[in-house]
Amino acid sequence: MPWAEQKHIPFCLVLTGTGTDVGKTVTTAALLASLLDHQDKAMAVKIVQTGIAEGSAGKTAASDSYHYRMAGAGAAFPTAQTLHSYPLAASPHLAARLVGQKLSCQELASEIRTFVSAHSDYDVLLFETAGGLHVPLNEHEDWLTLLPLLGFPVLLCAANCLGSINHTLLSLDALERSACKVLGLVLNQTHLCQDENERSILSDNIASLRQRLPHLPLSTLPYCDCEQRFQKLSQALIPLRELIVRSKTPKQATSLIERDRASLWHPYSSAEASAPLSAVRTAYANRLILEDGRELIDGMSSWWCAVHGYRHPHLERAISRQLAQLPHVMFGGLTHAGAIGLAERLKSHLPKQLNRVFLADSGSVAVEVALKMALQYQYGLGEKQRRRFLAPLGGYHGDTMGAMSVCDPVNGMHQLFSDCLAKQIFMPRPTCRFDQPFDPQSLEPAKSLLAQRGEEIAAVILEPIVQGAGGMWFYHPDYLKGLAELCQQAGTLLIFDEIATGFGHTGKFMALEWAGVTPDILCLGKALTGGSMTLAATLCTDTVAQGICAHGQVFMHGPTFMANPLACACAHASLDLLETGAWQKQVHDIEQVMRSELAVCATLPSVADVRVLGDIGVVQTKSPVDCSALSRYCIANGVWIRPFNNLVYLMPPYISPLEDIATLCRTIFQALLTTGTGI
Ligand code: PMP
Repeated sequence: MPWAEQKHIPFCLVLTGTGTDVGKTVTTAALLASLLDHQDKAMAVKIVQTGIAEGSAGKTAASDSYHYRMAGAGAAFPTAQTLHSYPLAASPHLAARLVGQKLSCQELASEIRTFVSAHSDYDVLLFETAGGLHVPLNEHEDWLTLLPLLGFPVLLCAANCLGSINHTLLSLDALERSACKVLGLVLNQTHLCQDENERSILSDNIASLRQRLPHLPLSTLPYCDCEQRFQKLSQALIPLRELIVRSKTPKQATSLIERDRASLWHPYSSAEASAPLSAVRTAYANRLILEDGRELIDGMSSWWCAVHGYRHPHLERAISRQLAQLPHVMFGGLTHAGAIGLAERLKSHLPKQLNRVFLADSGSVAVEVALKMALQYQYGLGEKQRRRFLAPLGGYHGDTMGAMSVCDPVNGMHQLFSDCLAKQIFMPRPTCRFDQPFDPQSLEPAKSLLAQRGEEIAAVILEPIVQGAGGMWFYHPDYLKGLAELCQQAGTLLIFDEIATGFGHTGKFMALEWAGVTPDILCLGKALTGGSMTLAATLCTDTVAQGICAHGQVFMHGPTFMANPLACACAHASLDLLETGAWQKQVHDIEQVMRSELAVCATLPSVADVRVLGDIGVVQTKSPVDCSALSRYCIANGVWIRPFNNLVYLMPPYISPLEDIATLCRTIFQALLTTGTGI
């Protein structure tokens, strides 16, 4: 049965430890006995057993599932299971390698989810790990990689001995950092107490941990080696069992969706109608994991930001480090190394004329800043009549009032507000395709408008090479060259909005490199932080800065979260990754796969155009698609895309495996066919 349709989901708990031989199996078996005592249908599952040949687990006392069986003796249903078993008593990565196998967290997570689905008649499933949290499962992954993928609460087991306070607190820290919900802590006395001194150490461990962790349920298990020990020890775990019984009501994803619908707005959505909505629990690399356990291949990089994929360890570490140092401080009158270094670093990647950096908190704000810079510059020059902007149709620059005023006035989502927006001047979108010879005629509208109304125009604003949310249109670089010359002749500034195109999406680090043109003002955002924090930047030339500051003026903008240090740290980490240059081959390979896999969409009668540039793949249909039906089809087939209007497009994370890119493309083709859009 598909996971999402399941009515009852067993309560799943992971039992892990502060190390090896800390009493995990005793705790698991005792907890199992306690649950069975309470008439719960429960089973304990060893995820990876080492030191036992495949097929022998459960039969010998050396295997953990043998003890689960003992604890469940007399039950009318299976109480013990082992998922993987290897003969060498070593870390799972090594034990698996020695028999020519390799464990993968993604596969283990999906195997466990399937196991849970197949045991939906159980009340509780206990999953025991092997060893401590950083015990490797393969060369790159350990239990701390797997646990967030599962999303089950965790019970931490520790041996009560010298060193337990330290090991327990370190393990709890690591679990917390991996966003694991810790249900409780069990301290095991793993051997007979030798003397009075040891007794006082052990009782102080319990007292100290209770004091430091006042909100964490803590159970203690005494040493016991009698025959019925699990049944005996189970008494000590009754409070823990009760906690489980209380938490057992399954948390269905639908209840989150209902709560969402009752309180929240989503982008471009109605509070009344219920467009499809999915709750995401976690994400990694190019995968989104929904609350109900389903995993989706991401084709959007979260609106073009998450170019390194999700939860990249380098970004996460940078944010944690900064969190411990300085999460935020006002930027008025204060500064910090993160912002200074970031400004220097951004400049080193851009034409040298762009010398001054304003760090804002979102793309729309960066555009507002750019427009205000242009107006203040012209004002400073005494050109007070230059109060308008010239923009091509089909542009998109954000949702704030100034940014909206330069978006396409008809298709730009902001038609409703057109009466209240500043009146700007529009010209046809650049008609010359990126992949065809340049036609100088396409510059004529700009030429004549600048000739007729140049005196009114403070700046021309446009997205270089790719018009994004306004139509996913790719146009010829020579258009930008010609436009830059026209602007210079007309005394207007040129603003490039690289918020969507920057940081590699078009196959160049910046789209402006295709044309070799330097604008007077440049907006960056989205992938600037690799998608984990919100940050944007507006850069301008010294000429613009001097114009603004002429006659002792100041630039009139200063958001509260300007140059937020956490966001700056994240941007540095993202630049570290981009500076390795790996993105170039990744984007190039994605482009090749998309070119060959999306081509077939052009054979569908409803499709008007298929185009690919960098990691941007676009299927444009002749009439608007049924976005909800397409999204539903894609989700049902394990793919996340978000089409709009007549555009079904991909902009996947650069780290996406190429077979996932092919799956994304093929699913789009099938979705167009199946939902009737392609016929
Ligand atoms: N400019 C462009 C080119 C964009 O694509 C966007 C967002 N799609 C924005 C500006 C606005 O950015 P934000 O959503 O961060 O405000």
